[in-house]
Amino acid sequence: MILTGLAFVFLLLLSLLAVFGYKVLGDKGPEAAEKTRCSVCRQPFGKEELLVRQVGDHKLMYFCRGCVLGLWSDLGMKN
Ligand SMILES: [Zn+2]
Repeated sequence: MILTGLAFVFLLLLSLLAVFGYKVLGDKGPEAAEKTRCSVCRQPFGKEELLVRQVGDHKLMYFCRGCVLGLWSDLGMKN
């Protein structure tokens, strides 16, 4: 009887872990999908962290803060 009870608790714990793990993965899924890569360094960022510029008719380019600052300092060195 004690063994059956232990097995039941173990199974319950396992299924709880499975549900919890699935939830964590489910929460991470959409967030990861919303990440956009910077057009310069290819690092993934949230869209609100990126500067968006349209190039040509439909191509959008995304720039992260680091790359914008890098480009800005490059421009400063030229002038
Ligand atoms: Zn970048």
